[in-house]
Amino acid sequence: MTTTSATEAAEAAPVAPITPAEGPSPATGSALDTAHAQLAAAVDILGYDDGLHTMLRMPRREMHVAVPLRRDDGTTQVLHGFRVQHNVSLGPGKGGLRYHPNVEIDEVRALAMWMTWKCGVVNLPYGGAKGGVAIDPRGYSAGELERVTRRYTSEIMPMIGPDNDIMAPDMGTDAQTMAWVMDTYSVAKGYTIPAVVTGKPLAVGGSLGRGTATSAGLVHVTAAALADAGVPLEGTTVAIQGFGKVGGHAAEIFAERGAKVVAVSDEYGGIRNDAGLDVPRLMEHVLATGSVVGFDESDPITNTALLALDVDVLAPAAIEGVLDEHTAGSVRARWVVEGANGPTTEAGDALLAKNDVTVVPDVLANAGGVVVSYFEWVQANQTYWWTEQEIAEKLGSRMHQAYRDVAELARREDLSLRDAAITIGVQRVAEAHQIRGLYP
Ligand code: NAD
Repeated sequence: MTTTSATEAAEAAPVAPITPAEGPSPATGSALDTAHAQLAAAVDILGYDDGLHTMLRMPRREMHVAVPLRRDDGTTQVLHGFRVQHNVSLGPGKGGLRYHPNVEIDEVRALAMWMTWKCGVVNLPYGGAKGGVAIDPRGYSAGELERVTRRYTSEIMPMIGPDNDIMAPDMGTDAQTMAWVMDTYSVAKGYTIPAVVTGKPLAVGGSLGRGTATSAGLVHVTAAALADAGVPLEGTTVAIQGFGKVGGHAAEIFAERGAKVVAVSDEYGGIRNDAGLDVPRLMEHVLATGSVVGFDESDPITNTALLALDVDVLAPAAIEGVLDEHTAGSVRARWVVEGANGPTTEAGDALLAKNDVTVVPDVLANAGGVVVSYFEWVQANQTYWWTEQEIAEKLGSRMHQAYRDVAELARREDLSLRDAAITIGVQRVAEAHQIRGLYP
């Protein structure tokens, strides 16, 4: 459905000027500041010099494209689109496509950098990339979203491909979006190329298990972190911010594994029930109404209050920067498991550490999605598809291995799980740089 207010909001959306990627970030506490601070900490741990630090910090390639859209009412609107390849030393760039009104170049740079470290942590032959269009998809018809997606794909065509940059869904995009990207790319090349995207529908070469992979991976690493402290997952209380592809399925899987999901939220508000929410019924409510708000057998709660609930596990699974200098100090959970990318700022991290909250970082906690994306790409390249059980087992073993690698380094060097995870990711990329050498 097209609404005037959404059109106006999208047209009025500020577009940040492009600043040099290697220069100082514009605002303290932005996603890019957070990503840069995390890299600097890892570089310090690894003792790398300034030259290597700069190589690891600067994106390899970026595109900023205009995406003209013919709206259903006949008017034309021009949207801003971005694609950033942060690093391609270990293989093709890999990363999602985000549709959100606040998308801007520095956010995409941060998200692309996190993809690089994430692929390193779970040991995939990929670099990191990310894309986005500054649009609020809720205000556009399916036809308009298809036209935006096809035009954006066409504009960034020189950067993408199954061997150089592979997209996947992120906030505001889904399997249908990926099918449009795949079709546009394939039509341009003259034959069907399923491996140009992952997270596409099964009918056009998607993988079983991709839709729930990020959430399944998140629950695997949560269970592993709890087990390290001798705590079983069964019976633990969980609060989840964000009830989309990551948060919604995470709630389902936590509940299936016997944890008690006591609060969830989305952009419209939150709900709580200390006895545990009936997640399957809640899914039906969300399907029918578009939000968790108004679910019976629950009380309302704000997004900010949810972050401060007295629960065992808090899983921020919506947007960046929600745990900052104002909110992180009130967190009472013993574990924060980051479903979202970059939900904790540098100041937030310091407060959580001070209060002995264990943070399972995004590059580990939400890596299940890219792991099964990799499986999907491998299957598409081989045109041979695996069973759901094979995928679930391979995902489980990768996630547990990644957790063990990170936890072991953290213990050995007395690091936070975040510093350990980023250090592993950075080290794997830097090793590839050093072995490949510098051209020319
Ligand atoms: P989505 O669009 O499917 O869902 C986002 C959810 O967050 C929705 O419930 C939305 O209402 C909620 N939300 C948005 N703004 C909010 C706000 N200000 N306060 C509270 N809730 C808000 O997106 P998704 O794919 O679930 O992605 C969520 C996060 O997980 C993003 O940070 C994304 O980068 C990250 N992530 C996603 C995947 C994946 O496979 N989809 C993989 C790794 C990381």
